[in-house]
Amino acid sequence: MSQFEYDLFVVGGGSGGVRAARMAAGRGLRVGLAEESRMGGTCVIRGCIPKKLFVYASHFADDFALAESFGWTVGEVSFDWPTLVANKNKEISRLEGLYLKAVEGNGGAVFYERATLVDAHTVHLSSGRVATADKILIATGGRPSRDLAGAQGAEHCITSHEVFDLKQMPKRIVIGGGGYIAVEFAHIFHGLGVETTLVYRGPKILRGFDDDLRDALHASMARRGISVLTDSVFTKIERRAGELHVRTNRGKALAADQVMLAIGREPNSEGLGLESAGVSIGKRGRIEVDAYSRTNVENIYAVGDVTDRLALTPVAIHEAMCFVKTVFDGTPSRPDHELVPTAVFSTPEIGTVGLTEAQALERGHGIDVYKSNFRPLRRTLAESGDRTMIKLIADRKTDKVLGCHIFGPDAAEIVQVVAVALKMGATKAQFDATIALHPSTAEELVTMRDKAYSKTP
Ligand code: FAD
Ligand code: NDP
Repeated sequence: MSQFEYDLFVVGGGSGGVRAARMAAGRGLRVGLAEESRMGGTCVIRGCIPKKLFVYASHFADDFALAESFGWTVGEVSFDWPTLVANKNKEISRLEGLYLKAVEGNGGAVFYERATLVDAHTVHLSSGRVATADKILIATGGRPSRDLAGAQGAEHCITSHEVFDLKQMPKRIVIGGGGYIAVEFAHIFHGLGVETTLVYRGPKILRGFDDDLRDALHASMARRGISVLTDSVFTKIERRAGELHVRTNRGKALAADQVMLAIGREPNSEGLGLESAGVSIGKRGRIEVDAYSRTNVENIYAVGDVTDRLALTPVAIHEAMCFVKTVFDGTPSRPDHELVPTAVFSTPEIGTVGLTEAQALERGHGIDVYKSNFRPLRRTLAESGDRTMIKLIADRKTDKVLGCHIFGPDAAEIVQVVAVALKMGATKAQFDATIALHPSTAEELVTMRDKAYSKTP
């Protein structure tokens, strides 16, 4: 019998922590998990799930408008924000229950408390209880940054933490940032009828994504009426006469009911007792881990957003599964961070997997680029200006498809499946040898015969 109360103690009941706790408990190990807020973590409570529900809500105005082109007459419509928030809350409570059951149902113990490390094998819970464990997994996630780099007034702003439970929907919103959250919420609010302005510090939003996707998104946002101010940052935010006033470095003055910061996230590594346990912290407060998610302390591991690798739910889950296999199954398993598909739920959405054109060239690939840009069939009757963009990048020597980038309806669903082909090392010739499914958007992936251009590094 081990000298410790638990074989594994997990700090954090989000995507990574719950998966590890559930798998370890399912193997008959003694598992404890501390969660200071709600089981399910960011993804379930204030991230992916409520966000996607809000995205669905935001699509209806567009759908109603489109319906007319198919002969439907849609009567007077209205939207009620409190109903959306209440129904969303019901659903996330249901999911929270499932996450709790996933751990407890497998024999794990859940403590709704904040945990801090006392030493490498001891965890202190906020109730005063102390637990000892052979292995400790830190899966404490991250939180929205409020660091406005010297600008005044961050205290007046909301973040993704507060946005899901606003009592009232704003009439005007200004969003700072140009990444996933800023782009998604700009489309959510715009779709719900809110006057929306995005303020981004660089020349083009979604830095790191393929340039054609970024250009297509900019054009689409402009067409839809979302105001995007580039090369701009907030200099001051103040509350006056019941509304917020924003000033930017370019002299722009904006009035709004809410100002949302979506300027990145910071790892939750502060006040965790990491120093007492001897765990090293790296840049931006991330917990440093090796290829197997082990910290510099032999029995302490970390997974998910707190390690600041790829902040996506399926990645946190994958890292947690690799951790359990490595530590408890005796099968060393390195998390694989290559060819991770990802989507930005703008309207229409972005789905992307593999290398961007710039990354492919940087890595020394000579490339052939295939592109298709067309009006989606569903929108033709309405004569809408919406376009779909599909781009494949293939290696000139091996013909392997290195990257696939889609901007258009269902891009996320399509790219999930394309990722399987890329993971198998599919070549462009194999894409071409696949018969199209007609009429569909995805058929363009297997019918693009003519290169748009080739490039060498
Ligand atoms: P988390 O899920 O954040 O869980 C950490 C948990 O630890 C939290 O519940 C926290 O309360 C708890 N905790 C922290 N400190 C302590 C402590 N000392 N003691 C006890 N408990 C503690 N990813 C996608 O793949 N797709 C998406 O569409 C997507 N949308 C997103 C939308 C938004 C608005 C946000 C913010 C994120 C989104 N993400 C999305 C990212 C995704 O949510 C995260 O990558 C994922 O939740 C990380 O999981 P995690 O286990 O590392 O941490
Ligand atoms: P991102 O890293 O995606 O974007 C942060 C944005 O804020 C960037 O545009 C960045 O600019 C800008 N920024 C950073 N600091 C400042 C500053 N001081 N002043 C002004 N602008 C600033 O972070 P998000 O917060 O949007 O999301 C966090 C992570 O959560 C994402 O990276 C993603 O991993 C995950 N997520 C995933 C989603 C999905 O899968 N659909 C949805 C939402 C979140 P610059 O680019 O110039 O550095």
